[in-house]
Amino acid sequence: MNKQTVSILNIPFDVTTLSEFTSKLHTKINNHQNTFVVTANPEIVMYANQHPEYRKTISSADAIVADGIGIIIGAKMLDTPLPERVTGYDIFTDLLTWGNNNHKSAFFIGAKPEVIQKLKTILANNYPDLVVAGIHDGYFDDDQPLVDEITTTQPDMVFIATGFPQQETFIQKHRHAANAVWIGLGGSFDVLTGTVKRAPQVWQDLHLEWLYRGLSDPKRIGRLMVLPKYLVKVTQIKIKRNRK
Ligand code: UDP
Repeated sequence: MNKQTVSILNIPFDVTTLSEFTSKLHTKINNHQNTFVVTANPEIVMYANQHPEYRKTISSADAIVADGIGIIIGAKMLDTPLPERVTGYDIFTDLLTWGNNNHKSAFFIGAKPEVIQKLKTILANNYPDLVVAGIHDGYFDDDQPLVDEITTTQPDMVFIATGFPQQETFIQKHRHAANAVWIGLGGSFDVLTGTVKRAPQVWQDLHLEWLYRGLSDPKRIGRLMVLPKYLVKVTQIKIKRNRK
């Protein structure tokens, strides 16, 4: 991709908008170009800074886009602003619609078995012309049967929603199985099926959806703690740079 990037804690983010980025992906899918997309938030950036293996994994991606408002804020603080959030969920729904309109095929891996059942119904009802090449929950011990199925079905898109770092590790390891767009989508199957409710519009408008989710799920509260640490790190980089 001929593109500009902005570095946040040494992770290069594409300078792009949602519509520009998705239209690039459409072209790549039409051309059967093997493409690995990472949708990163501050948690992923911090994790990559602490885990060199994971950092190597996401550095092998063709594009890293700004999934969280924290990334937009970090970019602004460093005086290298990004135009807008390009979220995994928005890319996912765009590709479902575009794939449905263009008779493309998709492979789905991730979430709990009951979520996958709901996802099957939604795909059949709302995206009837999208070919479902394969669809599996995200709780498995052996990658190989899934990789074999991807090799056989050769989908145009591979959606992996098992959460980071597993989803990106899976993609890096197996992306040679098909010349598809491979993308890690976190909890997107949960959101599309209504299993996890999106925050009320007012929270979304204030860019506080992450806070709403963090506060409404006790298991996520610990994960919120990474945000202040991330902002401190960005501030330190800014101060250091301004001293030079
Ligand atoms: N998940 C999975 N396999 C696992 C662990 C998690 O498929 O071994 C799924 C989980 O059911 C959820 C998603 O991965 O649907 C992770 O969602 P989360 O909201 O934690 O991801 P985020 O969007 O915050 O990265």
